[in-house]
Amino acid sequence: MNNTMIQYFEWYLPEDHFHWNRVKNDAHNLSRVGFDRIWLPPAYKGQGGPSDVGYGVYDLYDLGEFDQKKTVWTKYGTKEEYIKAIEECHRHKIEVIGDIVFNHRMGADETEKIKAREINWSDRDQALTGEEDVEVWTRFTFPGRKGKYSDFIWDWSCFTGTDYDARTKTTKLLEFNAKKWSENVSQEEGNYDYIMGDDVDFSVPKVVEELYRWGHWYLDQTKIDGFRLDAVKSIDDQFFPGWLNEMRQTRQDNMFAVGEYWSGNVEELVHYLSESQYCMTLFDVPLHFHLRDASTSYDRYDMSKIFEGTLTKEEPQSAVPFVDNHDTQPGQALESWVEDWFKGHAYALILLRDAVCPCVFYGDYVGIEHDQKKPVAGLKEMVWIRHHLLDAENLEDCLDDRHCIGWAAKGPHPVIVVMTNGLSGSKSFCLKGHENAVWIDIFDENNKVLSDANGNGTFSCKDGQCSIYIKEEDHRRMKEDVYYESSNCQ
Ligand code: CA
Repeated sequence: MNNTMIQYFEWYLPEDHFHWNRVKNDAHNLSRVGFDRIWLPPAYKGQGGPSDVGYGVYDLYDLGEFDQKKTVWTKYGTKEEYIKAIEECHRHKIEVIGDIVFNHRMGADETEKIKAREINWSDRDQALTGEEDVEVWTRFTFPGRKGKYSDFIWDWSCFTGTDYDARTKTTKLLEFNAKKWSENVSQEEGNYDYIMGDDVDFSVPKVVEELYRWGHWYLDQTKIDGFRLDAVKSIDDQFFPGWLNEMRQTRQDNMFAVGEYWSGNVEELVHYLSESQYCMTLFDVPLHFHLRDASTSYDRYDMSKIFEGTLTKEEPQSAVPFVDNHDTQPGQALESWVEDWFKGHAYALILLRDAVCPCVFYGDYVGIEHDQKKPVAGLKEMVWIRHHLLDAENLEDCLDDRHCIGWAAKGPHPVIVVMTNGLSGSKSFCLKGHENAVWIDIFDENNKVLSDANGNGTFSCKDGQCSIYIKEEDHRRMKEDVYYESSNCQ
């Protein structure tokens, strides 16, 4: 059974602490269109309080319940609203995926005076100094929570390093006294254990115990169904196999998990999958870069090679393809936006083939007000087609040209995709059982194809465009459902 996930947030959502209510209100329509998984942003209090997107995590136990970092609510609302939104998703048979940020902590309550070595940012195995006196923000006592749910106090011994010395008021990479970056992480910059804030030390047993305790608490409180794991390339790769196993045993369920391992190198991703015992799927970052490159290269890109060197090709059962996300959108840290003219092509490539769990980005589905980005045309229709028509086990591929490629998903409700990054083109398919049928292009209702008495049809697309054909009666059904959705989403 294949799934369709939506990442239901983008970086610049309004700071109106209303998003959990938005999720609750939208759940019915999302399910009607065909989504059965929703990835929600980190729900806990970040150092930026009501304006933190969620990745500057301060207190994992504060889901918008305690007066900490200026407010009770988070950017998205209160704990009560979060839980109600999850319940509403469940009512509509949508699995809820929690965003789990374990790599770092930010916004400590107190400083500590310790010894540390300064480290070379571009070669993390190289110390620039010996042990020196520093003052670091590493003590988390959570005074607003007063020990509720957990009385665990984080101090410097729970971390490997940080990037600020309060004694000299300077930003520098520090590795703490007698500590060592984990070996089981990405080798970028020599060792990529450190990204930001206070880097959590997964070799400390009390830290690991606390993260297990928190996992049980989070499952119990929220009834979440799966996990999106932040920054796994900077976390000891031996941590998640055990943690996920414990969570899955608790729920007696093979809970879905997808890791964010930000690398365009498919071998690195496959290596990580194997080191972490295939305990999670990974976002297909190489495919994202291919889609971006294709969109910025126009007809210079070889479309027949779009899946070469991607996780979708090498490890299809462990790949979560996506087009863009909150980091790749305009203005963000990893900006690598797939150009608008290619978005339809890109979504057809991930949604209308045999991917087990592609992920649609909120910024493409709803739009991004901050950058005047409109919803991607045809995206709702594609999700509907994936859910209601697509037979992914019956693909006939025609990825045989530098510019014009296509495929047919056969079966009782065939779907035919033809796209080009150059001049107009066409592909012919024989669709047995669908003789003398009328096929309509979802992007242009006037573009119709008639298959002959043997089921043969020639399906075309215009210069630089993507066409998706379905049978006339399926098209009618789709319009009813998608129209219903549009008229009710205001
Ligand atoms: Ca780390």
